[in-house]
Amino acid sequence: MNKHFETVAIRSQTERTQFSEHSTPLYLTSSFVFEDAEDMRSSFAEEKERNLYSRFTNPNTTEFVDKIVAMEGAEAGHAFATGMSAIFSTFAALLNAGDHVVSCRSVFGSTHSMFDKYLPKWNIETSYFKVNEAHLLEHFIKENTKILYIETPTNPAVDILDLDAIGTIAKKHNLIFIVDNCFATPYIQQPIKFGADLVIHSATKLIDGQGRVLGGITVGSKELMREIYLFARNTGPAMSPFNAWILSKSLETLSIRVEKHCENAMQVAKFLEGNSNIKFVKYPFLKSHPQYKVAKDQMKLGGNIVAFEIKGGISAGSNFLNAIKMCSLSANLGDTRTIVTHPSSTTHGRLTEEDRLEVGITDGLVRISVGLENVADIIADIQQALNA
Ligand SMILES: *Cc1c(COP(=O)(O)O)cnc(C)c1O
Repeated sequence: MNKHFETVAIRSQTERTQFSEHSTPLYLTSSFVFEDAEDMRSSFAEEKERNLYSRFTNPNTTEFVDKIVAMEGAEAGHAFATGMSAIFSTFAALLNAGDHVVSCRSVFGSTHSMFDKYLPKWNIETSYFKVNEAHLLEHFIKENTKILYIETPTNPAVDILDLDAIGTIAKKHNLIFIVDNCFATPYIQQPIKFGADLVIHSATKLIDGQGRVLGGITVGSKELMREIYLFARNTGPAMSPFNAWILSKSLETLSIRVEKHCENAMQVAKFLEGNSNIKFVKYPFLKSHPQYKVAKDQMKLGGNIVAFEIKGGISAGSNFLNAIKMCSLSANLGDTRTIVTHPSSTTHGRLTEEDRLEVGITDGLVRISVGLENVADIIADIQQALNA
């Protein structure tokens, strides 16, 4: 295996066919054929490693998985139709009725719904700690706790959790430590280095990077991935070969895209820091970020998400969105196109103010997923909307 990230991204490739193609072809096939009865028997008995049926594996999904496994420093992985199916399948495969989960309260909305609405159907309860309570984490661990779950940076408040400190607690209590690494990508941060057992991505975001396809992946130890693979193989949340083909190509440019996203985001953050209509800016690589030191220790770059608090609360936030001309109002993130959201009047509008504050959503909080347009145009659009 090639050592460097960019080389792995480009040169890890499915074996060439007899046509000597340069770029990996798209294997749109639901099943694969066998030579004879013995070939079929030994294949189903897993005596050889080969493709049987695309609900299990497919050359395109395997190429995509192999790249992420190498990038994250994992042993094995499995690709899913979406980020949420990766998350749900991981929990469903590893938990039994009566188990307990400890999670940071600041997690993706649908992940939170899974904890609160669906896992309790199987008598699995989740306790939450707030981002500023990470030092009290051990108080939330019970005898039946099995999984410790976090995202960092968090959405939408861009807080940073200390992977090393949390990984140490997980190890001490023999918990499976799972990190949703979606906001950072494996280019910026590899949680396994800090003690994570499993890493999950929504490939829909920066991995695709162009707002085209949905996808998800879980990677980690061979032992845990075996359980997750068998669950997926039997229950069917498979990634389509077409999406895997797109996503594997996307990984070839992940490093240069993420470099540029982060460079643009840093410039947007610096511009906002000097603006008089703004109360505060949160970006992991700004010195003013409350967890700046931790961010510097565990992240290569600051990411592409910038959050800021606009003066004037909810109405100022929605006025800002209405005044935006070029940037998109959309729920996605990690796209080439810059996207702005105002959680308290939109995605999190149905929560009570108290619930919003628990996840760091103040009334005037705006989240920007900084894209790859020329940064001068991004800043000009933000500036005119702030002045409108
Ligand atoms: C989008 C997202 C997910 C869910 O991914 P889908 O591909 O939309 O199912 C999970 N976690 C985080 C942090 C996300 O941003």
